Amino acid sequence: MDDKYLKQTFISIITKGSKSNTYKFALAKFLLDYSNAITKQSIDDHIKNNQSILVDYDLIANSFLTYFWHQECKYRIKQNYQDSKPPSVIKIIRNVFGTDYIPEPFKNMPKSKINQAQKKIKQRVFGKESQKTSQVIPRFQNIREGNSSIRRQVFYDYDDDASQIELKPESVKFFSENYVFLTKLVLFEWSKFLEKVNTIPRLIAKVESYEIKRGPLSKYVKIFKDFESCFYCNGSLDKAKTHVDHFIPWSYIFEDESWNLVLSCEKCNLKKSDSLADTKYLKYLIERNHTYQTKIEDLRKSLLKINTQKGWQNEIAHHYNNCQEYGFSKVLLS
Ligand SMILES: [Zn+2]
Repeated sequence: MDDKYLKQTFISIITKGSKSNTYKFALAKFLLDYSNAITKQSIDDHIKNNQSILVDYDLIANSFLTYFWHQECKYRIKQNYQDSKPPSVIKIIRNVFGTDYIPEPFKNMPKSKINQAQKKIKQRVFGKESQKTSQVIPRFQNIREGNSSIRRQVFYDYDDDASQIELKPESVKFFSENYVFLTKLVLFEWSKFLEKVNTIPRLIAKVESYEIKRGPLSKYVKIFKDFESCFYCNGSLDKAKTHVDHFIPWSYIFEDESWNLVLSCEKCNLKKSDSLADTKYLKYLIERNHTYQTKIEDLRKSLLKINTQKGWQNEIAHHYNNCQEYGFSKVLLS
């Protein structure tokens, strides 16, 4: 098995074949992440001794939970056309974590819930029970050849009784050495699949960064220095406790843009978190942007970016409504 063959096979799996759900992308990402974490020395030793690298289904289930938890609970990315028939992993996540938007990060979820979800995912997606639902482990290596598909255990063998895959060390070496390129490919194809059923902004970035990385917002306190009271409650702003709030939640909009940023007091910002404010505030935001676009250069530039033929007002209202349709909740602010 040379690198060229491994590359062709992997690309074929990711770009062709069945795409009834996104499990194969998640499994591919797991294989890459796992291989990338193994030292070169260890890989070489396994190759020398012709020894497989054993990976328990538990570990794969844990990664599936992390990938899909963010897509479901943080970014509300739809996984298929029929929202009433989501894949098992999404059903499990909804059962355990509820269907409301979760503002807290994954690491703050109760251990008991995480364990419960991991256990169920292992059973229903990878275990014996999965024979009825998903068969992502065996099916992943069904390779399209002409009009038929042939199962070839190129990257791993598997043992359902022992609940583990047996990774071939040459494929681990290949995954590790081509990690960046192959990961980009997987995320691109994964996003391309999700794009067909989603109308949310910055989809690729959301699929890519399941860990939230947010830049500092302090410069916006200066940009909006003319504002002396909280956008929501109108209370006067305490300089030390002025917060910069994303009017349309960051988890939906996924960028820091002046048109969507307001100054608020600590209390309102914490209460609002990653939720939506009442519709009356949408009107206030549009008014604010309208009034200040000529006075604040950064705001003017920011509005220009979303100024479509129908106008930026329409674009903001569209984001607000779409965000609500995606299940972001509304909170009452004074
Ligand atoms: Zn306030």
